[in-house]
Amino acid sequence: MPARDKIETIYGSVVRRNPGESEFHQAVREVLDSIVPALDRHAEYAEAKIIERICEPERQIIFRVPWEDDHGEVHINRGFRVEFNSALGPYKGGLRFHPSVYLGIVKFLGFEQLFKNALTGMPIGGGKGGSDFDPRGRSDREVMRFCQSFMTELYRHIGEHTDVPAGDTGVGAREIGYLFGQYKRITNRYESGVLTGKGLSYGGAQVRREATGYGVVFFAEEMLRTTGDSLDGKRVVVSGSGNVALYAIEKVHQLGGTVVACSDSSGYVHDDKGIDVELLKEIKEVRRERISAYTDVRPHAAFVADRSVWEVPCQVAVPCATQNEISAADAVTLAAGGTTLVVEGANMPTTPQAVRVFAEAGVRFAPGKAANAGGVAASALEMQQNASRDSWTFAHSEDRLREIMRDIHDRCHATAEEYGMPGDYITGANIDGFRRVAEAMLAHGLI
Ligand code: NDP
Repeated sequence: MPARDKIETIYGSVVRRNPGESEFHQAVREVLDSIVPALDRHAEYAEAKIIERICEPERQIIFRVPWEDDHGEVHINRGFRVEFNSALGPYKGGLRFHPSVYLGIVKFLGFEQLFKNALTGMPIGGGKGGSDFDPRGRSDREVMRFCQSFMTELYRHIGEHTDVPAGDTGVGAREIGYLFGQYKRITNRYESGVLTGKGLSYGGAQVRREATGYGVVFFAEEMLRTTGDSLDGKRVVVSGSGNVALYAIEKVHQLGGTVVACSDSSGYVHDDKGIDVELLKEIKEVRRERISAYTDVRPHAAFVADRSVWEVPCQVAVPCATQNEISAADAVTLAAGGTTLVVEGANMPTTPQAVRVFAEAGVRFAPGKAANAGGVAASALEMQQNASRDSWTFAHSEDRLREIMRDIHDRCHATAEEYGMPGDYITGANIDGFRRVAEAMLAHGLI
């Protein structure tokens, strides 16, 4: 059967076997579509049913998370950990706490994570987890009690050689601290390598907090470099104002660009003089307030409620909020407004229709699984430092991150050329990541 037909059969089976999980279907579709040329060259992958095996997680864990709020009311949330694939190393991937989390979101993220981790070239497999718990508006004590209850189940499934969770949306340094504390208490083991994204006071690594956002911008810089260009003087829009967005904004400014707008789920802030990132950090990381508070201190800036940040014209767009946040209509607006480069900081923020609009308009595009791999790469560096009881400086860690991002960029670029699709970073990333996982799976036999 030709590879294209085989892909359709496999995709149909994925949809049937995972009903209602539209984000997972979308992520699988995107990867399958772009690896057809690799399947044409490697009959052995089909014979060993590598794709069918990759689409089926090795293990899926769903559990109850009961906890009590500050008024003594009991709440029940649902916890997830999907251990997708360990061909390249222990499962590795973040935990997301957000009310939208369900199995389909965790599986899409785990599936993406597998290829992303492979692209880093580091010994880490793919997994993802989380809960439908909403930390927004909850007190520190409530978040702590939730994290303790979540870990009381999760601890039996993880370990430095088994599965190493980290942060994602809604899970930052505070949550990782509470999760680590409870793991240590239950197991009676100080196992630094069991979680990454830890605080610097107890085994965390320099640049982990900044790594995803910085890495996205390093990737953008590498793309621009291929045409003799740079971020210097560029007008940039970044969506979101969480961990990835904050440090993407910081790095764009360090490299001479200007971020003129950013957002949260309530709307966006437009500041033509350039977003004041220290103020934004204070609002988001310290005070945990809504983004509209920005204009109290910078009255020349405008807060626009309930509208898409993509209506602000820019040369470079960096979506760092959530999945499917750039619609086809947003893509048309961006391309018409002069955007020539889109680099995904979030996971799958661009709808397939928007990706097509960008391709037709000649807008260069970098998929998140390549461009946002800096976070997990820095996590792998944190694991290395924990294992060797070493601790690197900020400058050394940032240099390593930059090298890793350059290397990922160059391999995506070269793989796209090898398959006759120069400049197609989606194909380059998917084929390079897929080949690495497939080769390891072939070597391990049928497991
Ligand atoms: P955070 O929780 O720190 O921040 C998310 C930001 O996005 C918040 O500002 C949030 O606003 C905003 N947001 C969420 N939903 C929407 C929406 N529908 N419209 C507009 N804004 C929205 O998460 P992270 O920064 O950690 O993660 C962001 C993305 O990057 C996710 O896709 C994540 O999977 C991905 N990622 C994260 C990595 C990491 O290291 N943290 C690594 C690789 C990828 P509000 O506060 O109002 O909800």
